[in-house]
Amino acid sequence: MENRRKAHRRSDASSQEPHRREGAAQTRRSTERRPAANRGGQASEQRTATQSRQVGSRAVSSGRSSSGQTQGAPTDGRRAAQRTRKPTQKRAQAGGQARRPQQERERLKNRAAVSAHPGRRPAAAGLTQEQLVPIMAGGFIVVLLGICALLLFHPWKYNVTVNGTEVTVKRNATLGDIVEAGYATPAAGDLMSVDGKLLKEGGGDPFAATVDGKASNDPATVVPKHAVVEMTDGANATEDCDVTETPIPHGERTWDTEMGSYWNGSLHVYEEGEDGLSVTKVGKVSGTTVTEQTKAPVDSGYHIYTCNPGEDKVIALTFDDGPWDTTTDGILDVLEANGAKATFFTIGNQIPEHTAQIQREKSLGCQVCTHTYDHAEGSGQGANLTYMSSEEQIWEVQQGYAAIKDALGEEPSHILRAPGGNFYGETLTILQPYVDAEIGWDVDTEDWRLPGADAIYEAIMSVQPGQVILMHDGGGDRTQTVEAVSRAVPELVAQGYKLVTVDELLAYDPPVEDAPDAPVSVG
Ligand SMILES: [Zn+2]
Repeated sequence: MENRRKAHRRSDASSQEPHRREGAAQTRRSTERRPAANRGGQASEQRTATQSRQVGSRAVSSGRSSSGQTQGAPTDGRRAAQRTRKPTQKRAQAGGQARRPQQERERLKNRAAVSAHPGRRPAAAGLTQEQLVPIMAGGFIVVLLGICALLLFHPWKYNVTVNGTEVTVKRNATLGDIVEAGYATPAAGDLMSVDGKLLKEGGGDPFAATVDGKASNDPATVVPKHAVVEMTDGANATEDCDVTETPIPHGERTWDTEMGSYWNGSLHVYEEGEDGLSVTKVGKVSGTTVTEQTKAPVDSGYHIYTCNPGEDKVIALTFDDGPWDTTTDGILDVLEANGAKATFFTIGNQIPEHTAQIQREKSLGCQVCTHTYDHAEGSGQGANLTYMSSEEQIWEVQQGYAAIKDALGEEPSHILRAPGGNFYGETLTILQPYVDAEIGWDVDTEDWRLPGADAIYEAIMSVQPGQVILMHDGGGDRTQTVEAVSRAVPELVAQGYKLVTVDELLAYDPPVEDAPDAPVSVG
């Protein structure tokens, strides 16, 4: 270590020879101020060694410059020298009076050197007591201000509002602390078994709280400064449990192919069948087992029903026998003006001359379906698919789809309205591969009989949520229909009805027959 120090000093001497004496003077003053300047031990040793070496050379120089210096020595320097007590410094003191001017010159030189090298800091030891006092006082004030700022932004305590009352809490207080301090006294909820029996009073949530509107029932939630806390009784909790899910296989429905059954509901749907789901819970505390059905199975087969939309006020307007020159656009104008949708059961061979109407129907969000290609002309006698051969029935449906696809550029939904509502018997099985659903109606306006706009309007307004209304936009003069629709649609919308497509009605679950029992508790 000592060798290294020497080597270091030699290096300093060779590279900084012109400043060696000034450096020495700094070093000695540094040693005198050491207690205030907080210097490291190794540095002190080094300086002491350097200082010893320099004392001799100073003795020589002091002899050269002693004359006339003793009387003019600065008072500050004398005081500083009088305070020193170490033997080495006493020796220096002996020649101190004479050396002061020299010392002063070195200090000035040192300042000059520092200003020429801005990166170097002047030694604190170069300052007098009078200079140090304001600096230290300034430092003290800065520290004090810092502490004040810290307390201002991170106070030990702050106010929060609990259930409308402002209270003081310690910094980072939690919801649990607020309850412990008695600022709120919520009652804990109870712990319940999987079958709803009381297991432990007060074993549920400790409280129900919001902190600045954000819900929490965790006592560890921190309440920040100025937070608004609302705290009420805790909710009941259900015991932890093991859960097992079991599918409920769907059944096969017996097909009802009778002609009269058509009127049992407006939606005639081929169901593929869908399994239900049963959930079994075994409580970890109570050991109780509970099984409940969370999804009912949907039997496969042919379902006839009317949509049950629950709370939704939805209805479906349907228009047959279009598109038509004089009336289709009139109905579309009413729908567009009221943000309403409808379903159009089109006749395929009328579409090529009315492509614009079909495209407008689609652009307004309406559903374009088929009413067969030529309304069951020929062997169907213009109204009855069941009179036709299997091949003819399939052709009517497929050509109807193709006409729509040609006009719209996309495959239509495979939803059919059979001409005259004649959809029964073997036709159900013949067309099953080509049709997803056949749509009847719940409200028949009989507008084709031309009963007058008032009668059609009254029929429309008799509709109930989930129902399908039958009207016609083609096949004859439908001006009464347009007038009735223009009066009824705004009123239905004003009553809160949403006029939807048939696909939207089909999206509701079909009614469940043979509904299973309510949740069963076992053991
Ligand atoms: Zn028709």
